[in-house]
This record gives sequence, structure tokens and C-alpha cells, in this order.
Amino acid sequence: MKKHLFDLPENMIYLDGNSLGPLPRNATEHVARMMRDEWGQMLITGWNKAGWMQKSLTVGDRVGRLIGAPAGTVIMGDTLSIKVYQALASALKINSGRKIVLSDTGNFPTDLYMAQGLLKSLDQGHSLQTVAPEAVADALSTDVAVLMLTQVDYRTGRLHDMNALTRAAQDLGIVVIWDLAHSAGALPVDMTASKAEFAVGCTYKYLNGGPGAPAFIYVRPDLADQVEPALSGWLGHEAPFAFDLEYRPGKGIERMRVGTPPVIQLTALEAALDLWDDVDMQDLRARSIRLSDLFIREVEARCPALTLASPRDAQHRGSQVSFHFPEGYAVMQTLISRGVIGDFRAPDIMRFGFTPLYTEESDVLAAVEILQDIMENSLWDTPEFKQKNAVT
Ligand SMILES: *Cc1c(COP(=O)(O)O)cnc(C)c1O
Repeated sequence: MKKHLFDLPENMIYLDGNSLGPLPRNATEHVARMMRDEWGQMLITGWNKAGWMQKSLTVGDRVGRLIGAPAGTVIMGDTLSIKVYQALASALKINSGRKIVLSDTGNFPTDLYMAQGLLKSLDQGHSLQTVAPEAVADALSTDVAVLMLTQVDYRTGRLHDMNALTRAAQDLGIVVIWDLAHSAGALPVDMTASKAEFAVGCTYKYLNGGPGAPAFIYVRPDLADQVEPALSGWLGHEAPFAFDLEYRPGKGIERMRVGTPPVIQLTALEAALDLWDDVDMQDLRARSIRLSDLFIREVEARCPALTLASPRDAQHRGSQVSFHFPEGYAVMQTLISRGVIGDFRAPDIMRFGFTPLYTEESDVLAAVEILQDIMENSLWDTPEFKQKNAVT
């Protein structure tokens, strides 16, 4: 438990760390110091003196430890949408004879949108095929170029078997990309053991890097010097400061850099990662399952109108639990007004994240008590709570 290391508001039960992690206390001072002493005093010399240019790699190594990736195989930068695009473009180059990208209907829309945009601009007859999550294994074939999946479903928390699907896909010559948006910092991931070619993810969810924190991309080390970067920006060049007119990809994972790194955001993320350095992911997973199972048991016992939208078996679930309820949006707004923060995903899903670094059993019990009060007394049934906000 590291709750005291987070700046959580009083009287709030935060069950939305799967969407935006809370502020680690050390981040405020760490960022202030960087701005004052580095940006303020060093100005442009900070790129060398303060190691700003190396941060994308040094922070990448620390994220790498949490996803079972060796040093030098992960680099930070841009947003996850961009990293999806880069991974997919490079994967398609590896399998240029095939035209199908396979994904599932549980994937987060931006992953699918980025694929659609890329395939359209390639204009080479590619198509994106999406099947139900349970049907992915059966849809693998030698026509598929790339299998692109998010390991944990953002709505239901359903967990794909990463190693089994990767093996089945690679047996058919398919290149595999995993999106770890809801996996990194949520459960143990072992990229090396999975043997997948690519992985991408974000750091503002379970890793608590803050809104706008940079994304990451992993390329399997034996491929890193061969992949062709579609976004051939100057900082992914072999020698950015030679200012050559021709692009030549940088060595290894560095070619997945695009432009200037977000140094302030990387600094906040460094502070957030300090809290992860001694975390045992197996232990974290055990605690996450205890919290999630407790939540399911209590909600089902006390709020019979809600139906479980997540897999009941913890082995098939990430670190979040969702329930269906037709007026789920209004119920969630009511919960938020009572200090219990989860979120809502259309059409009827109330979503709750369980983050053992700062959530304990007493939080789960207190949250369900409030939920029970709201359900039993239909406290959600007012125009105020049905008014939709832009971000749900
Ligand atoms: C959260 C999430 C994203 C968000 O992408 P951004 O570019 O960071 O806005 C993308 N994909 C998945 C699977 C996600 O869960």
C-alpha cells in the first residue's frame, strides 16, 4: 500500500485509476525542480546537461521492466494513437504480401480508427477485419498480415491470453501487436516470453504519469534494426544533428522516435515510476484480484439490479470491473456527486478500476455502501444526473 504517496483528495474513493491515475506526491516537486533548475537555468543547454534527450530511453527502460521487456527495447513519446500507427505501419511492411489486419470489436476505437486511416492512405487494398473477442483465434489465417489486439478490453476488462494468441498467430506467419493500455501497471506482462513483435501502451492510466503523459512502443530486439519507421521524424534519424537531407533510420528502438520529446511530461512520469521500482507485479496482481472479487461479491449481494459485464473468473479479467445498468450514466453521476469516482462507457457500462497501490478493501466496501443507497432509493433518477457531459 502506497496510498500516502499519492495526493488524493479527502473524502474521495477513486476507482478510475484505469482511466487517469492520481497525482504521485513526489511528482509536484520533481517537475517544479526540473522547470526551475533545468528549463529555467539551463535553457537550451538542458538537452545535454540535464539529459533531456536521453529521457525517452531511460524512462522507456523503466517502463520496460514492468512489461517484461529488456533494456533498450522500449522508447517513450507521442500519444498511444501515434504509437499504434507506427507499430501497424512497420508490421505491415514485414508482411507486405498480405492484406488483412485482424482485430476485435472490443478494441478501443482509436486503435481501429488509426488502422483505418493508415490502410486508406496506403491505398494497397488492405482491409481491417474485426471479429468478436472470443472469435479471434478462429479468425487467424494465412491471409492475415497483422493481428492487432488490446490485451484488456477497456469496457469489460476481458483479458486475452497473450501468449497463446501470439503463438497461434505466429504459427501462421502473422505479425502481432499488443496494446497494453490497460495492462501496464495493472498485471504482470512478459513481452519477452510472449515473443510478440510489437507492443504499445500509455502511461497516464495505471502508471500515474499524468494527463498527456507520453506513450511507449516496444519492438522485439531481433527486429529493431530492421523495422521501417513510417513516421520518419528527425529524432528517429541515425544522426539528427547532421541535418542530412535524406532520412536514415536510427539504431534499434531509437528509430521509433519522431520529434522533440515532451520533457516536462517525462519528468512527471519519472517521479510516478519511482513508486513502481520496488513493486512486485505478481503481488500487485494478487491484491488487484482480491479487491475486484470483493467488489463483485458485494455489488451482486447488495445491488441486484446491476448485472456483471466483466468475466467472473479473475484469470480472464484485467484490473477493472464493469456492470451493466440501463441508467448507468445517471448512476455514475450520482456516485461521483457522493465522492465515488468511476466512469461510464456507452451504451450502459459502469466501470470501476482497482489499483492496489492506493485502493484498499475499506474503500471497496465504502463505495458499495454508497452504491447500494443510490440504487435502493433511486437517487439517480433526477434530470441533473442524466445530463451528459462531454467526457463521460
Ligand atoms: C486509453 C487508450 C487509448 C488512448 O489513446 P491516446 O492516443 O493516448 O489518446 C488508445 N488505445 C487504447 C486501447 C486505450 O485503452
